[in-house]
Amino acid sequence: PKEITTLVTFFGATGDLAKRKLFPSVYNLYKKGFLQEHFAILGTSRQEMTTEEFQAFVSDSIKEFMNEDADADFIRHFDYEKADITVAADYAPLKAKIEKLDQDFALKGNRIFYMSIAPRFFGTVAQYLKSEELLSTDGEFNRLMIEKPFGVSFETAEKLQNELSDAFSEDQVYRIDHYLGKEMVQNIATLRFGNPIFNNAWNKDYIDNIQVTLSETLGVEDRAGYYDTAGALRDMIQNHTMQVVGWLAMDEPTEWTDTAIREAKNKAFNALKIYTPEEVAENFVRGQYGPDADNTQNGYLQEKDVPADSQNNTYVAGKLEFATDRWNGVPFYIRSGKRLAAKTTRIDVVFKQDANIFNGAQPLEKNVLSIIVDPEGKIEYSIIAKDTTPEFKTRPITLEWKVSAEDKAQTPEPYERMIHDTMDGNGSNFADWNGVAVAWKFVDAIQSAWDATHQEFPNYVSGSMGPVAADELLARDGHKWIYEG
Ligand code: NAD
Repeated sequence: PKEITTLVTFFGATGDLAKRKLFPSVYNLYKKGFLQEHFAILGTSRQEMTTEEFQAFVSDSIKEFMNEDADADFIRHFDYEKADITVAADYAPLKAKIEKLDQDFALKGNRIFYMSIAPRFFGTVAQYLKSEELLSTDGEFNRLMIEKPFGVSFETAEKLQNELSDAFSEDQVYRIDHYLGKEMVQNIATLRFGNPIFNNAWNKDYIDNIQVTLSETLGVEDRAGYYDTAGALRDMIQNHTMQVVGWLAMDEPTEWTDTAIREAKNKAFNALKIYTPEEVAENFVRGQYGPDADNTQNGYLQEKDVPADSQNNTYVAGKLEFATDRWNGVPFYIRSGKRLAAKTTRIDVVFKQDANIFNGAQPLEKNVLSIIVDPEGKIEYSIIAKDTTPEFKTRPITLEWKVSAEDKAQTPEPYERMIHDTMDGNGSNFADWNGVAVAWKFVDAIQSAWDATHQEFPNYVSGSMGPVAADELLARDGHKWIYEG
């Protein structure tokens, strides 16, 4: 591979995410040869630590999460500087360290800043990076990698966006959504545009409906403090689900570049119908889990730190509509929830069927293309074929492809991919501001309609696929969920 020349400064370098995901990802990029001689990693946090201690922390992370002894040559590229990111004066020693590393490793002024810190600090750090002059003026790039969540509503997201855009332009901001780093999510575009049979049929003439499912089996665990204020709507729908929908709903980009891809996605996002409160009631279902059928698992209201009268949603299902020539009248059904029957991320594209074929004498199932993202990558295409019986009869059969063990072994983890793509200046698999903004406006409309009405909870049993109302939502349109758990 072509060597990448850059400095990466990790804010929050002593945190959980850095240790579990970020340093192992950087090590993989080193082992694959993307990082060779001209790179340096600067860790910073408010903890007192020497560079040697930090290097030992990184070695431990590689040992613990990759089961390997990190190369001494790799570790030598790591340095540490303590800073309180809320204090302007603390940025001067960081700046000095950055300039020294730039010299020592001949980094050409190329800089990436990764914010592995609490979201309330994102804006502050971005602004100090500019005002305290940590951005290079003579390098090829300054880039900002930003963790989730990006705001908790449109208003808070816009405020954050304004703070970021004082210091960084849109093409310098890499908003992480790790679902966009998943192999099979990245495969959507290839399957769609690379195959004429799908590409030509990817519209209202041939597609009946599209279903996106992100289901979890776990409950809230010990995260109620955060989760009770977010719910499935803000925790899973606003970001991950909407970003997956972006790949499904977009038109073909005019060229295969990040700018053109984002432009095509934004055209779709901008055509998403934002609902009135009445439309929310018609098109969206919220759920909260109760105990399981055997009463061995708590309901949400009995979980630790959950208020006894919580109206929080642990399940969301809904219908999206895009007012475009491609999609007029085609529902996109989405759902996500906790304590469901199975843990999976999948997309089911249901094609229209012609009932009059074979003189209408055969019941014909609809063709379905399923892209299964988790727990293992798989593609299933169910089609109609002839039954083996002597009289003419049809039956549905399924063509199936699975990611092999060898494929899986070489598939980079989302964080490795996202760090690589940022180093490479490729923003194709990151969330852009326009899409994030539309998703917030869409979600805010739903949340405010729900806030204004009381719902009886619990309304689904732990271990089921969610509330009955979610099945009724599709049944009303003459559809049904393809995946039943
Ligand atoms: P953490 O609490 O483990 O680490 C926070 C880091 O921030 C520490 O290094 C701490 O020293 C530093 N910090 C806190 N206050 C500071 C200050 N005033 N000045 C300088 N440094 C300060 O958090 P984490 O779990 O590593 O998460 C970091 C970010 O990543 C958050 O935005 C979180 O939402 C996001 N995230 C985390 C995970 C995960 O698996 N942990 C997954 C996805 C996203």
